[in-house]
Amino acid sequence: MTRFEHSPAQPVIRVRDLTMAYGAVDVLHGIDLDVHRGEVFALLGPNGAGKTTTVEILEGFRQRSAGEVRVLGADPERGDDTWRGRIGLVLQSWRDHPRWRVAELLTHFATYYPDPRDPAELLALVGLTDQADRQVNRLSGGQRRRLDVALGIVGRPELLFLDEPTTGFDPEARREFHLLVERLARDEGVTVLLTTHDLVEAERLADRIAMLVGGRIRACGTPSELARRAAARAEVRWTADDGTPRRERTDDPSQLVWELHRNADGPIADLEVRRPTLEDTYLHMVHRAADGTDEAADREARAA
Ligand code: ADP
Repeated sequence: MTRFEHSPAQPVIRVRDLTMAYGAVDVLHGIDLDVHRGEVFALLGPNGAGKTTTVEILEGFRQRSAGEVRVLGADPERGDDTWRGRIGLVLQSWRDHPRWRVAELLTHFATYYPDPRDPAELLALVGLTDQADRQVNRLSGGQRRRLDVALGIVGRPELLFLDEPTTGFDPEARREFHLLVERLARDEGVTVLLTTHDLVEAERLADRIAMLVGGRIRACGTPSELARRAAARAEVRWTADDGTPRRERTDDPSQLVWELHRNADGPIADLEVRRPTLEDTYLHMVHRAADGTDEAADREARAA
C-alpha cells in the first residue's frame, strides 16, 4: 500500500494534538479531529479562533508546529499532485481572472484534471448557466462565490474545503449556496469541511460541528448533541397572578411546571418552556474562553 492510498474505513481527515504558533504566539493548542467520508463537517468559531489556520494546514498551505495530520491518508505537508487533485479548495476568493468569461474559465481549469466535470453541467449545478458568457468581474458577490465553488469541484474532488463561504451574501444567495452544498454532499458523496462563524449556517448544513474557540476545540458533535450539552439550563417563563413576568432556570422544567400548576388557582398565564439551543452552548463556550475559565480548568487538570 502506498503512502497516499486511503481506505473508506479511515477518516478522510484525522488530526491529533495539532499545535500552531506564529512566532512566539500560540494559536492552536492541541486539536483533535476526525471527519468521515460523506460528512459535512463545520468548524465553527469566532474571528481569530484559528479556523483558517487549521484549514490551511489541512490543505497543505501552511506548515504546522507539531501534531499528526492525515488528509485522504497523506500528510498534507508531503501531498503530491495526485493527492492535491482529490481535494477541492474554495478559498476566501479567487480574484485573479477578472476578464475571463465564466464558461471559458471553467473550461480552462477543467484541463488541469484527469476526469473533470463537464463545464456546462457544472454551470447548471451551481446555477450559472445564464452567466456563462459573462466576464468574471461582472458577477454579483453570490454568483462569484458559486463560480468559486464550481472551480473547486471541477476536478471531482472527494474532499471539499469551504472557508467562510457565504461571507457577504444576501439571504437568498446564502440559501442557494446552502442548497448547492447539500446537493454535493447528499447526491455526490463529497466530504465537506466548512469553516464559519455563522451558527445558523453550521446548524443548517453540518452533520457535525466542532466549536473552535481560542485555538481549542471546546465541543464537537451533531447540532442536537451540542444543544443538549448546553450548560445553560431550560428556562421557564410565566406571568404571576399579580401580573409580574417571571422566569426561572431549571434542570427539570416538568417538575417546575407541575409545581406551578399545583400552587396555582387556575391556568398559568403565558407559560413557556425554552430548551437550551445550539446558540446557548456556543455563547457559553465563547464566554468561558473569554473569561479564562477553560484555561483555569486546563491548568487544574494538568496539575492533578
Ligand atoms: P479565524 O479563521 O478563526 O478567524 P485565523 O486562523 O485566521 O482565525 O487566526 C488565528 C489567530 O492567528 C489570530 O489571532 C490571527 O491574528 C493569527 N494569525 C493568523 N494568520 C497569521 C499570520 N500569518 N501571522 C501571524 N499571526 C496570524
